[in-house]
Amino acid sequence: MQCPSCQSSDTLKCEAAYEQGKSTATVRANDGTTGTVTTVSSFAQRAAPPSPWLKETGGTAAAVGVAYLVIDGISAMRGSTALAVLGWITVAFGLLFVWRLVALPKYFRKHSEWERQWICRRCNKVFGP
Ligand SMILES: [Zn+2]
Repeated sequence: MQCPSCQSSDTLKCEAAYEQGKSTATVRANDGTTGTVTTVSSFAQRAAPPSPWLKETGGTAAAVGVAYLVIDGISAMRGSTALAVLGWITVAFGLLFVWRLVALPKYFRKHSEWERQWICRRCNKVFGP
């Protein structure tokens, strides 16, 4: 694959560039505990996949929303309004459905675009096929 910007053929898939630039090191703290630290080179950062931010926040928001609605529903049930509970459950599933419908496909689309992208080793340009 040739770089459209500098015509170099020293290019590679973003996915490969990201994997190569990522390194994991084991570090030991003063108290003897060990942990792993993942570092990503600046070149690999340019080739990084789309942020799962959308996926994560969407999922967390939906989970918190559902939890809230369930708790709210239970307290409504104590007030013996079974219909209100059903209403809240419907809203909860509605929110989940909207999230799946909107946020997830957006993330997956971005991710599959990234899977087809290349990066130039000479000028760092990220380009499509
Ligand atoms: Zn280039």
